[in-house]
Amino acid sequence: MIKINENFLKLQDSYLFSTIAKKVSEFQKENPDAKIIKLGIGDVTRPIANSIISSMENAVKEMGNSETFRGYGPEQGYEFLRNKIVEFDYQKRGVDISPDEVFISDGAKCDCGNIVDIFSINNKIAITDPVYPVYLDTNVMSGRTGNYNSETGKYDKIIYIPATAENNFVPQLPKEVPDIIYLCYPNNPTGTTLSKEELTKWVEYARENSSIILFDAAYEAFITESDVPHSIYEIEGAKEVAIECRSFSKTAGFTGLRCAYMVVPKNLVGYTENGQEISLHKLWSRRHGTKFNGVSYPIQRAAEAVYSEEGQKEIRENIKYYLENAKTIKNGLQEAGFTVFGGVNSPYVWLKVPDGITSWEFFDKLLSKANVVGTPGVGFGPSGEGYFRLTGFGTKENTAEAVERIKKIWS
Ligand code: PLP
Repeated sequence: MIKINENFLKLQDSYLFSTIAKKVSEFQKENPDAKIIKLGIGDVTRPIANSIISSMENAVKEMGNSETFRGYGPEQGYEFLRNKIVEFDYQKRGVDISPDEVFISDGAKCDCGNIVDIFSINNKIAITDPVYPVYLDTNVMSGRTGNYNSETGKYDKIIYIPATAENNFVPQLPKEVPDIIYLCYPNNPTGTTLSKEELTKWVEYARENSSIILFDAAYEAFITESDVPHSIYEIEGAKEVAIECRSFSKTAGFTGLRCAYMVVPKNLVGYTENGQEISLHKLWSRRHGTKFNGVSYPIQRAAEAVYSEEGQKEIRENIKYYLENAKTIKNGLQEAGFTVFGGVNSPYVWLKVPDGITSWEFFDKLLSKANVVGTPGVGFGPSGEGYFRLTGFGTKENTAEAVERIKKIWS
């Protein structure tokens, strides 16, 4: 008889976005004339830049020509792309990463989900709370958690590190030492960042305790402030304790094209049960080469074009557009009397729900009174209760109108 992986039964239904969709569709049915504005989206909306499209078109044509056709590519990614990543994302910031430490993939979601394959089932996991749900769910699937406790909203055996207004969104170093620590900065959903000084504390903590930090920098391109690190490797010693994920999804609008990368430094090690040091780069290389066929050639050429002069100019315009929207939301809500976080180095604005109501109650109020849709904070973890996420990924016009409606109701 076929047996299933029963860890999947511990997973909580990802009801967040389906519940939102259901509530919105019911409201629209009852109020057919309401012009609903969706500011809950975590997906980009602006089209891919021209220079990126034309590079992809050229690569597609190469595939139809017997002289330039390419079959299976290198599993770790084409060198032309890995070289550009190293030059622009690391060397230009004074960080020494070599191209063979970069693994091209089809998404940061897949990378942070798949990396758990190379770690022991007995590792203790720490996540900041609230956070991008993939870190937790992929560890539930692979059996690193106990059961879900519906009263606390937490899984047993996971270390939750709250990041809320009370600690200024700076998570405290946990007393119980984890083996694997997930850090996401700029953070989804709070839009907040860690300063170099704060991130240094985490790197030192990981070094002292032989832990690994999985650093998700999917929103790195939105950083505007100079003291915010773009890469964990800007911190001394991080190459011995950190793996970093990056993505072209939010940086260059690749959510539909799919391209990302992960850096696994060569001197990063893990240990066997009997204490033998093993290279994590070697393990990941084996995992990647066995289970992943690489990103298609045209998409890697498209990603390469992100680093061209024109590509950089064009993607910066889109990022600026989303950041302007985030600023409109942040300023408008502050004028309406809300307490608001994020939105400066991130497309995400994180607001404190007023009047002591829950984040789902605020969702209902915002939908029915302002016809605006956002995301309840509790969907990102128990410490997200009492907060709400709005995003800058809408159009400028809709964003401004949504803010005006909110101001009219709450001012
Ligand atoms: N990491 C974070 C923090 C995210 O918010 C997202 C997407 O929303 C991802 C990773 C996924 O990135 P990708 O599209 O490259 O899989």
